[in-house]
Amino acid sequence: MSSTRLNAGVADRRGRVARATHFPDPLLKPGFYSAIVQSMQVNLPRQRLRLRVSGAAETALRSGHPWVWAESCREQSRAGQLGELAVIYDRQDRFLAIGLFDPQAPLRVRVLHAGKPQTIDSAWWRRRLLAAVERRAGLFDARTTGYRLVNGESDGWPGLVLDRYDQTLVLKLYTAAWWPRLEEISAILAAQWPEARIVLRLSRNLQRVAETGCPATDGQVLRGPGLEGPVTFLESGLRFEAEVRRGQKTGFFLDQRDNRRLVESLARGREVLNTFSFSGGFSLYAARGGARSVADLDISAHALASAQRNFALNHDSETVARCPREAIRADAFDWLDQTPARKFDLIIVDPPSLARREVERARAIQAYGRLAANAIAHLRPGGILAAASCSAHVSAAEFFAVVRQAARRSRRNFEELQTTGHPPDHPATFPEARYLKCIYLRFLATGRSPGSPRRVARKTFGSNLRRGARARGQATNFGS
Ligand code: SAH
Repeated sequence: MSSTRLNAGVADRRGRVARATHFPDPLLKPGFYSAIVQSMQVNLPRQRLRLRVSGAAETALRSGHPWVWAESCREQSRAGQLGELAVIYDRQDRFLAIGLFDPQAPLRVRVLHAGKPQTIDSAWWRRRLLAAVERRAGLFDARTTGYRLVNGESDGWPGLVLDRYDQTLVLKLYTAAWWPRLEEISAILAAQWPEARIVLRLSRNLQRVAETGCPATDGQVLRGPGLEGPVTFLESGLRFEAEVRRGQKTGFFLDQRDNRRLVESLARGREVLNTFSFSGGFSLYAARGGARSVADLDISAHALASAQRNFALNHDSETVARCPREAIRADAFDWLDQTPARKFDLIIVDPPSLARREVERARAIQAYGRLAANAIAHLRPGGILAAASCSAHVSAAEFFAVVRQAARRSRRNFEELQTTGHPPDHPATFPEARYLKCIYLRFLATGRSPGSPRRVARKTFGSNLRRGARARGQATNFGS
């Protein structure tokens, strides 16, 4: 990608881009000109792609929202190419924003910058990366070498995530609009972290179309030494492996670090059930926090095996080594339903997203309620429920409300300990980015409310989730 195409140009006071006005001499035959250009290996200077959007979209852009949907686009100066910079002007022809254009996607422009015109060149990208790095300054000491460095739109890198696992950086793309810039971005990362290995990951929807244009493949090592198997890193002094080339997300659920720390502080002397345990993150913290035992419950044998390896990696911690661990391979919905005799003192419920689309929202809320109710039924007097949701389509208010409702319906006395949201390395600056929430309830040892707990019927959602898990398993190698 040449700097010509990367450069947004210098706009005049009315926001018109001066640089974009160089055109080939019209007297030259096009073929003649393009032959010279090809021999010089440079791109034709092109007029900057210009857009106008609806009034509502203008307002949203002015308030800092980073997305422009296709249906909000009113005028377009020419057909745009994947990943090129599009400049959005308001009705008075003033510069509003500049972003990455995708001619195919419903999310047509992902905003890089709004406000005053700016030149977007390599120095600009480097400054933007440093801003994300500086935002995290002081958050982590040497005991935590796995964390998020860039969190998409909320760090000014729309549709792009960068996670660090010790000396390995995982660059995950959620939009094809980055493909033409992949080489330049990885060069900037390599200049910032010369020692690091850089692994590329593509979101599931991109994997399907990657063959038709992505310069690299999902799981490819873009820089640094090759890689077979997982990498290891530290989180709060605990050692974990991350399957960065094939695992879910970028290989580990870094977003749950602060909730794991809370669970550690609540675990002493408790029998702990970690449902949807994945690679055992919550269980290891609970074990270190002095849990009497931990049980990992997951539908995936692969995830359970990873959790077992993570336990083995931490046997130098006395409390971890002392803590008995059980692995239960089952569908969590079925297991919670069918084993009423098993009781615990702390239960973590952190399922995969139950609403991947807006239309699934209502059923997801019901399913969260059922999961909470079923988990509460397994809690001993004094037991604690930690219930999390990572569905962006279900708001924190809706999720907390349905878990509290399940607690009330259990007719047991309970108190709310805490609710949590996003950790500081996963900032969320606009509503659609806020997906993570967790609520902690303690069911008191005495004072059962009159009446017996209501049995909560299992509906069809569990089987849908099972199907989803299997589908994901095929894509991520984390299936059973
Ligand atoms: N709590 C984990 C992350 C959970 S990811 C952590 O902190 O790391 C979701 C996990 O749920 C995956 O490991 C997946 O295998 C598992 N899963 C998906 N559907 C399931 C089901 N129906 N029953 C049990 N586990 C399931």
